[in-house]
Amino acid sequence: MTTCFEFQEAGYQVTLIDPDPISGATHHAGGMLAPTAEVQYQQHDLILLMKESARLYPDLLQRVSKYTDLPTGYRTDGTLLIGADRADGMHVAELIKYMHLKDLPVDVLTTRQARAAEPALSPRISKVVSIDGDHQLSPRLYARALLDAILQRGAEHIADAVISIDGHDPCLTVTMNSGVRVASKSVVVLAAGLGAASIPGWFEGANPLQLRPVYGDIVRVRVPERLQPMVTKVVRGFVEDRQIYIIPRTDGTLAIGATSREDHPQPRTGAVHDLLRDAIRLIPGIEETEFIEVTCGARPGTPDDLPYLGWVGSNVIASTGYFRHGILLSALGARAAVDMATNQPLFPTLDVCDPFRHQI
Ligand SMILES: Cc1cc2nc3c(=O)[nH]c(=O)nc-3n(C[C@H](O)[C@H](O)[C@H](O)COP(=O)(O)OP(=O)(O)OC[C@H]3O[C@@H](n4cnc5c(N)ncnc54)[C@H](O)[C@@H]3O)c2cc1C
Repeated sequence: MTTCFEFQEAGYQVTLIDPDPISGATHHAGGMLAPTAEVQYQQHDLILLMKESARLYPDLLQRVSKYTDLPTGYRTDGTLLIGADRADGMHVAELIKYMHLKDLPVDVLTTRQARAAEPALSPRISKVVSIDGDHQLSPRLYARALLDAILQRGAEHIADAVISIDGHDPCLTVTMNSGVRVASKSVVVLAAGLGAASIPGWFEGANPLQLRPVYGDIVRVRVPERLQPMVTKVVRGFVEDRQIYIIPRTDGTLAIGATSREDHPQPRTGAVHDLLRDAIRLIPGIEETEFIEVTCGARPGTPDDLPYLGWVGSNVIASTGYFRHGILLSALGARAAVDMATNQPLFPTLDVCDPFRHQI
């Protein structure tokens, strides 16, 4: 939908073909726009893409807000990265060195300073870093706002699944359950998340997109009125080497996530237990919250954790494989698809996103 929006900004007429536009990974996502707190060793190119996309976000949101009054849950309160025990603290200290190396700005706080800013934090924490530039939004709200904005601007929405994309311009056809749409003088952007792996027609031989589901359990709870706001910043932590995040929403709820596993798509009881135990270890007051739901989403993973973004045929662009950072990377992915279609220079690091790089 961000891609639809950016094509409209560039003057294109847009058709969104999706049976249920807010049902995929986006429905489950945390919504951290966090190039720094989410940094991982050995992912230099991904870091550059994430930084660039974070830079584009404020302007994108400002432009979207011209076409819809719906909220996005965007918050710029920042993020705290916390090590729980001493070993976790050493882990965070190592990460700080890496963040400095990658030119990612962070402020080291004493635990006293951190607890003055966020009194709900446990006194039993060993290392805290404040990251002002890591923001967040609520993906479900944002997706609804985007859908509203693109429809307000005249996009057509066909609530159907694409079965194949065949042919070449000017006879490029998009086949759906309900019929065929000829896409002459058009650009088709294949942005169906994991679903892109099962849409044939545009490639010869084996599908070059090596997408796999990486499941994530995420819990949502409501903070009782008397404890509001429990925290104002996103809290990202390591607890006995396990990763956890707690995201405060504007509606008084918290999202607590997320696992990363490749077994089955149902929420796993042990995962819920781990998430809640680790979240309570960092913010004990979470014990007092009301449980809302647990869901499990499937991230569209790729073998090297980088997206697939580029031309894959005559007038077809693939834009998928956004894995753990697709909410953040959507700003750059959408912009890049328009730049490709209009022959504009691309952000240089996008070379690494060649959709054919894993073709056998
Ligand atoms: C638990 C969890 C937490 C996450 N947290 C974050 C986070 O904090 N920050 C972040 O940046 N990212 C996060 N992510 C990752 C992020 O959610 C994904 O990378 C992103 O949502 C991918 O967006 P997408 O539009 O490519 O795919 P999806 O959101 O999966 O959407 C795919 C769409 O394609 C449609 N579709 C599928 N097949 C077809 C077809 N044949 N025809 C037509 N339409 C089709 C579907 O209906 C769906 O609407 C998280 C993911 C999970 C699961």
